[in-house]
Amino acid sequence: MKGLMMNYQLTIPHILERANKLFYDSEVVTRKPDKSIVRYKYKDLYKRARALAKYLTNFGLSSGDRVATLMYNNYIHLEAYLGIPSAGFVLHTVNIRLHEDEIAYIINHAQDRILIIEDTLFPLLEKIEKKIKVEQIIVVPLKENNAPEEYIDYEAVVMKTDGKDFIYPDIQEDVAAGLCYTSGTTGKPKGVLYSHRAISLHALAISLPDVSNIKFSDTITPVVPMFHVNAWGFPFAMTMHGCKQVYPGPHLDAKSLLELYEKENVNLTVGVPTIWLTVVGELERKKYNLHKDFTFLVGGASAPQGLIKKILDLGYNVIHGWGMTETTPVGLTNTLRPEMKNLSNEEKSAHLIRQGTPLPFIEIKGMNENGEIPWDGKTMGELYIRGPWIASAYYGVEAPEKFMDGFFATGDIVIIDKKGYVKIVDRSKDLIKSGGEWISSVDLENALMSHNKVKEAAVIAYPHPVWQERPIAFIVIKEEEHLTEDELKEFLSQKFAKWWLPDYYIFIDEIPRTSAGKFLKRKLRDDLSKYLKDIGGL
Ligand code: AMP
Repeated sequence: MKGLMMNYQLTIPHILERANKLFYDSEVVTRKPDKSIVRYKYKDLYKRARALAKYLTNFGLSSGDRVATLMYNNYIHLEAYLGIPSAGFVLHTVNIRLHEDEIAYIINHAQDRILIIEDTLFPLLEKIEKKIKVEQIIVVPLKENNAPEEYIDYEAVVMKTDGKDFIYPDIQEDVAAGLCYTSGTTGKPKGVLYSHRAISLHALAISLPDVSNIKFSDTITPVVPMFHVNAWGFPFAMTMHGCKQVYPGPHLDAKSLLELYEKENVNLTVGVPTIWLTVVGELERKKYNLHKDFTFLVGGASAPQGLIKKILDLGYNVIHGWGMTETTPVGLTNTLRPEMKNLSNEEKSAHLIRQGTPLPFIEIKGMNENGEIPWDGKTMGELYIRGPWIASAYYGVEAPEKFMDGFFATGDIVIIDKKGYVKIVDRSKDLIKSGGEWISSVDLENALMSHNKVKEAAVIAYPHPVWQERPIAFIVIKEEEHLTEDELKEFLSQKFAKWWLPDYYIFIDEIPRTSAGKFLKRKLRDDLSKYLKDIGGL
């Protein structure tokens, strides 16, 4: 028998309407590039998001068209988050930290029709402008009062549009609202589309008590960039609950963040371990008057247990989250349950170091060569995941090996205990995660091996105290050739962003191989400490 339920669609216009009807007085606070604070209310957010929606509609975009953003975490980005999907278009957040060629590739591959960029990123705009095929560039004046004449000024032109009579198009919940590219192991970055339904359900699920416990009374600062999987869904969840939203703009140094938390009475902040290491270092140096329940949500890369313990020792709370671009992103979280309150901080951090248990509606399994692994806390397998906010394909790219029987193969090697707690123990994908951003070892190797004096090259990660992982390159020079580290650095810097370049270049006679002739990177990893000692590294 069929249930007699209304066919109600889960869409972002609902979140925007709710924000204005129930929470018109809630605040959005942003630190601007000049460090001053700008604040407004949800009723302003509502008005401006609808003005943007109307402007884009008048421009002639059709339903499903992509609009790119290149911005830090600020209130204009939030307007784009709500305004673009509410008009039936797709919010495409582009990672400002990628190399200019990669950014141009991503914008062109997504066929973005309009780009919205903040004026602090002019140096980047100059580099990509001739390479991208967008029809219009809208500049957000945050640093200056106006955008240069040759661009559309977000404030002067877009915000002049009266969005009062804007009528939402009829949006089905399974159409795309967002798009984000992830750097793959090999080849070009791949796009992941997020539907209105996925974003809505994800926002609800991350708000649950055993996840991040988001409520109206919260003041939250997402430090994780808004160009990283929708800042892990927080802008949507916060708007849904009417929280006070506090955005740090481009100022992500520990002092600026802590001053902001203190001044705005923030109680929850969300970001990667690299940032929390610097914040905790500053907290150990100086006393800040933070909210009594101050909580760090840490995710996106493996967090050192020492970091978690230090946060607990300082008297603050930790939530650990795991996710991927392909999983919208939150799939697993780990919090301290009330019955754990008497454990020592050592024991608590040993618990929290695990990536956690799946959110409601998320199903997981571990797979190895023998099939599905038992949940015994010791058998290793690749984590597979499925659920209403897990991608089922990449945008315009075939990858059948990643999507099987409705599950997505994550590339993370895990053990799962009998209560469903997942712990990542290794990674099958050939990638390096430095400060929460990916570096493809395969891309670096291919580039190095295209140098006419290089015979072979292998790149692996080495553990770094601040960045978690950094690349190190092993090079075999062609016979009778001579090559220096500086030459290689210069060569790679033409192709890659500076932070992609290996920290060390180690010249060796041959790269160890498997019996099948493949590079045996595990041997390089095993011998890493010896190599680093030889060159006087860490
Ligand atoms: P991205 O698509 O850039 O968000 O990266 C997703 C990947 O980051 C995962 O597959 C993991 O390898 C890694 N990752 C994310 N969260 C965590 C975490 N809490 N602990 C360890 N690794 C993580």
